[in-house]
Amino acid sequence: MTMLNMSGGLHANEATALATQPDAFDYIVDQFADLQILRYEVPGFESLSLQQKQLLYHLSEAALMGRDILFDQNCRYNLAVRRTLEVIYQEYEGDRNDPQFKELEVYLKRIWFSNGIHHHYGMDKFIPGFTAEYFAALVTQVPADKLPLPVGGDVQGLITELTPVIFDPDVLPKRSVQSGEGDLIAASANNYYAGPLTQAEVEAFYAAQKDSTDLTPVSYGLNSRLVKEGNKISKKVWKVGGLYTQAIEQIVAELEKAIPFAENAQQQAVIEKLITYYRTGDLKDFDAYSILWVKDLNSEVDFVNGFIETYGDPLGMKASWESTVNFINKESTKRTKIISENAQWFEDHSPTDSRFKKKEVRGVSAKVITVAMIGGDCYPATPIGINLPNADWIRRDHGSKSVTIENITEAYDKASQGTGFNEEFVWSEAERELIKKYGFITDNLHTDLHECLGHGSGQLLPGIDPDALKAYSSTLEETRADLFGLYYIADPKLVKLGLVPDSEAYKAEYYKFMLNGLLTQLVRIELGKDIEEAHMRNRQLIARWVYEKGQAAEVVELKERDGKTYVVVNDYAALRRLFGELLAEVQRIKSEGDFEAGKVLVEQYGVKVDLALHTEILERYKKLKLAPYRGFVNPVMKLVRNDQGEVTDVTLDYTEGYTGQMLRYSNNYSFLPTYNN
Ligand code: ZN
Repeated sequence: MTMLNMSGGLHANEATALATQPDAFDYIVDQFADLQILRYEVPGFESLSLQQKQLLYHLSEAALMGRDILFDQNCRYNLAVRRTLEVIYQEYEGDRNDPQFKELEVYLKRIWFSNGIHHHYGMDKFIPGFTAEYFAALVTQVPADKLPLPVGGDVQGLITELTPVIFDPDVLPKRSVQSGEGDLIAASANNYYAGPLTQAEVEAFYAAQKDSTDLTPVSYGLNSRLVKEGNKISKKVWKVGGLYTQAIEQIVAELEKAIPFAENAQQQAVIEKLITYYRTGDLKDFDAYSILWVKDLNSEVDFVNGFIETYGDPLGMKASWESTVNFINKESTKRTKIISENAQWFEDHSPTDSRFKKKEVRGVSAKVITVAMIGGDCYPATPIGINLPNADWIRRDHGSKSVTIENITEAYDKASQGTGFNEEFVWSEAERELIKKYGFITDNLHTDLHECLGHGSGQLLPGIDPDALKAYSSTLEETRADLFGLYYIADPKLVKLGLVPDSEAYKAEYYKFMLNGLLTQLVRIELGKDIEEAHMRNRQLIARWVYEKGQAAEVVELKERDGKTYVVVNDYAALRRLFGELLAEVQRIKSEGDFEAGKVLVEQYGVKVDLALHTEILERYKKLKLAPYRGFVNPVMKLVRNDQGEVTDVTLDYTEGYTGQMLRYSNNYSFLPTYNN
């Protein structure tokens, strides 16, 4: 519930302090469809100790081992489609300059990016630009023994099976359906639920397990697929010896290799408990691991590896597999340290009802990190901030760890120089100057506040089911965290603490947030479609709500000039009060588990798009020739050995391209059968 994505990938800060000099590092790797591929630098890696580098190396290997799990979680045909196309891409000896072959290449690149056949953000199935006939012809022209043939089937069987999956827009149309009146489980193409399961059956299955008097409940359903066979409903747990064992065994083997390089006993205990959990599949072990992890504050190297975030499940219970491997950025962590040291002050002064506030904010630890490897659901599209663990009671009793990933935000920022975006969409030179002067600082600060304070703030009333908001929980949780950050970024306390240079700085974030939420994030949505993704819903919800509530007083206006629509903020102080009002209401909804009110808020403000405005924004954006979504390739991490075979160093190579990396991962880190039943 707690990953922060780049708010649009659209923060085209023309010139920040960081970017006045042209940089030798080559950030832009590839661009296709609606995607741009960047590379991130890992500053500070060379000065780590050899022990730390070796720890990072094995954790990084573990981060890549689970890639296939995510593909299979996203849809049961994903591995079959990916593998078939990879064989064609590598083996086809016909005309590779044929426009249809070029379209096949783009389609394969999109599948790699989305970890499957559905858009990574909008979750709709994307339809290729080549024909079913062309696909069938190519499948028959590559070596059959290399293809992922269905059990007992032949090449024709493979074509018959995959053709509707790839080409028919009505088959598996959406990975995860998270709103509407229909059966969300039946409508979702993901692989978290199998067999003819209804939403009512799933909800009944978990309701029967839950005990509302349990103050430390496990995260029900987190690490298993729910299956209906005949009339029997049962779970298949993702663990060693269970579902996905082939990949999980490899992850465990790398974690074991990492243990001798642990920096201290606490970190060693974290790794060992994670291994235990992967072996038992017991969610109590996961909680024990999470508690050890949240208390591991002295290590410089850190990592996440497992079934963590639940954005992909319409019911918000089942987690996708992900990994990040990182180490601390000591200089920038001074900033987040100030924030976390003052966490209780922020909690006490927030505009929420006192019943919903934490009396004692525990262990909010915050740091700025440098990622060295990303995998699973963090790759190639990656968060810029993370706050874990997700279990409410662990956060309540043991605190949470919150990070801002600054080498990623820096790569975004540098790759955004001089794109013409701000000239096109920002109202006037005054706002552009604000963004130029403060944009990078306030962007990072909003992420810090969102992760470190926002997600960690507030409490549920006793007896409230943490899953009460169901399909709306992710959106409302992100809304809450964003609002907390927006409210406080304008607080005089931040100037006093030295976190912003002056009392004007917050206006840069306010302007960008309103511009993105009201207008420019729409460049990521296809014309005529609704907004689906939780962070995007959250941003539009906030922007539309404050726009509407402040309309009479003209707090924020949508002004037209030369046939183009612009956002104009007239009263920044009033805007802050509105953010505060909405924060109080969203906190109430969460604390009381008020599903109906949450649903109305999301459906009324976060989902629907104004068609005329959307058309205009898409046309203006198209002229800039930018890609609305961005992701990253990883560096290649290599062990250096001496003549005796001992490891003497670990190096990073930044030269690998997108296709090369994806094919290498598919060759070296692919352990699952094509179908995992
Ligand atoms: Zn978040």
